[in-house]
Amino acid sequence: MTDLRQPYQRYLEPGFTAFDPLELARRTEEIVCRGDRRKYTKFYCTRVYGGIATGYLCGCCLRCIFCWVEWSRDFPEKYGVFRSPAEVFYRLSRVARKAGVNKLRISGGEPTLGKAHLLNLLEKAESSPFRLFILETNGIPIGADPNYAQQLARFKKVHTRVSLKAGTPKAFTSKTGAKPESFELPFQGIVNLLEAGASFHVAAMTADRRIVTKQERQSLLDRLASIHPALVDNLEEEAVDPYRTTLERLRYAGVELTWDER
Ligand code: SF4
Repeated sequence: MTDLRQPYQRYLEPGFTAFDPLELARRTEEIVCRGDRRKYTKFYCTRVYGGIATGYLCGCCLRCIFCWVEWSRDFPEKYGVFRSPAEVFYRLSRVARKAGVNKLRISGGEPTLGKAHLLNLLEKAESSPFRLFILETNGIPIGADPNYAQQLARFKKVHTRVSLKAGTPKAFTSKTGAKPESFELPFQGIVNLLEAGASFHVAAMTADRRIVTKQERQSLLDRLASIHPALVDNLEEEAVDPYRTTLERLRYAGVELTWDER
């Protein structure tokens, strides 16, 4: 049968057509998930969070121009091996023990795609001797599915970090490729996590004056404060780092940044 859908969304280029991130999430899950298995490319320990064992997975539902992850984000069909939650937990545990760390995470894309895989993996982490599982998310799937936050809140060892990309719908589209209507989804994800009583904090790409204006930053702060003032007090502000993939994505998007002033 002929597939009449749009071509799969890759990195952004000038004049791109904005996409629905929930549709891209579904298309990506078709590629990177099989039952409760999900594609991963590697497992390693990194120094962030004071040392954390990391599984590097494939696939995301946004196309941020400053994204640092490997090309498995844009071409998930070409990368990775399908791994079960048990296999991922075994590999994370092995890396953690070898490095002497007691924290786990999965990164390299959007971990909340493939819900069955993630929840099964979190069950294993919860009943393990490890202290903490960090869940880094763009907030889109959690904003679209109110049950998701409640299911995450059941885990006492899981701490979620919601990473916001922009402060206005227009900027959200130009930085992520997603339609302006979807700008609210990550904020709804934050509301859902708050109401579910989950452990979480918010990060935002607001510390970099090359890609965010004062007004846009203030809009983001105001939107967060309207949900809960403590979200602003605890906000982790990020800047763009010059990873190879980031530089290439910025170039493909036609965005030039100077690296001596931020
Ligand atoms: S920065 Fe995060 S949310 Fe944005 S495309 Fe990369 S992995 Fe996805």
